[in-house]
Amino acid sequence: MKRKVRVRFAPSPTGPLHIGGVRTALYNYLFAKKNGGDFLLRVEDTDQTRYVKGAEDYIVEALQWCGITPDEGIGVGGDLGPYRQSERKEQGIYKKYVDQLLESGNAYYAFDTPEELDVMRERLKVEGGHSQQYDANSRNSMKNSLTLSAEEVQEKINAGDPFVVRVKIPCDEEVKFKDIIRGWVTVNSETLDDKVLFKSDGMPTYHLANVVDDYLMKITHVIRGEEWLPSGPLHVLLYRFLGWENEMPEFAHLPLILKPNGNGKLSKRDGDAGGFPVFPIEWKSPEGETASGYRESGYFSEAHINMLAFLGWNPGTEQELFSLEELVQEFSLERVGKSGAKFDPDKTKWFNEQYLRVKSNEELAELIKPLANNTDEKLLADICGLMKERVSFTNEILEKGKYLFEAPTEYDAKTVKKKWKDDSPQIVADLVPVFSNTEFKNEALETAFKTYIEEKELGFGKAMIAIRLAITGEGGGPSLFEIMELIGKEESIKRLNAGIENIKKEIEV
Ligand code: GLU
Repeated sequence: MKRKVRVRFAPSPTGPLHIGGVRTALYNYLFAKKNGGDFLLRVEDTDQTRYVKGAEDYIVEALQWCGITPDEGIGVGGDLGPYRQSERKEQGIYKKYVDQLLESGNAYYAFDTPEELDVMRERLKVEGGHSQQYDANSRNSMKNSLTLSAEEVQEKINAGDPFVVRVKIPCDEEVKFKDIIRGWVTVNSETLDDKVLFKSDGMPTYHLANVVDDYLMKITHVIRGEEWLPSGPLHVLLYRFLGWENEMPEFAHLPLILKPNGNGKLSKRDGDAGGFPVFPIEWKSPEGETASGYRESGYFSEAHINMLAFLGWNPGTEQELFSLEELVQEFSLERVGKSGAKFDPDKTKWFNEQYLRVKSNEELAELIKPLANNTDEKLLADICGLMKERVSFTNEILEKGKYLFEAPTEYDAKTVKKKWKDDSPQIVADLVPVFSNTEFKNEALETAFKTYIEEKELGFGKAMIAIRLAITGEGGGPSLFEIMELIGKEESIKRLNAGIENIKKEIEV
């Protein structure tokens, strides 16, 4: 019988979620929804030394902003959550399976102190063996339940000596599994070490808790970052040792997100250097450090998701813009590439621009209203309409379109130097009565302007830049006649007259 698709995103709350983590969550979500399955959010907090306060809330909020809603787990109540491994440990969930592994001889107690482990590594280094690991070659010379008698082991446990439980990796065996993205992955068990599964404080390690929970939560597909690929063989062995081979999930290890130049994994430092965020939302560490987020930088969550979906996946067509629903329809793991996906800051902005441009002027007006001095909705909507093709973010509408709200106080020096000619003041002065006697509408203004330059045999560009400078203070921008219509006759005429004087003063300085 085909099992219902169930996938999980299983972050450890060790800090803010990198966009690589958000992409993993997204691919899991898309895969689940595409296949009519469930998406679980499980927090893997067994390593208390790496626990960071606030990280779990951050993860929940970030996914919420992205529209990635879990069906079960963190943030979902009742029987369906929250799935937090530290709490599941309290319920004694993992201990049972450790005992089972000890019983079947696939795991053993080890009592070695950190110093003894150091000595072991030193010795193996000097001997020049192939590795310095705790494994089939070295375990027989260490202090564990394979070398000590049953009585000695019991005595140590009774005396409260600290111990760990290690997995007993079989020697010289090919461990194989099929990765949906990479095909067959084969590793010789010689290269694996006897990883710690459980500690005497009752806490399971990542490997054990992860496998046990995937099994108990009936996970059918493990979709995670490439950095977990080396753990695959151990997990496959644990499924076998626990007798769960028939319920083993399929694996898909996602490619890394690379730096813009392709040299290595994208890091926070790359973001700082390139002026782009690597986190979905702003992060404030318990120590008060902050890191910027896409949300606070003015990105639409739909654009962020769309951009992330394309870092590793493509639909096989020319289409680049996909809503979350469309991504659900189109997504497949077969179309996820093996090689790392280069992060492209320009493309990231491009996605935001596309989403901004299809928003209605009214919608954009709502967004800029809290930041604007003028709250006339009709005016704001018109301004958005005029500026939306020229900006990457909504707040830039106000910055770049400053002259739509107030007269310029400065005139772009470069343009003045290059384009403000001896006859420019005269051209502007001539146009004042022309425009004064014209209906203040885009087309009428343009016709009046054209008639004037034809009459005077002036170049279009030359005359245009003169009035643009006077009206906006800038050398470029959206249609000037639309700008004039928007700010109105009185204001336009005032600016033309003031421009002649102000630019003259600016040149004299
Ligand atoms: N807790 C692991 C992490 O932080 C989960 C890896 C996995 O998905 O198996 O990414």
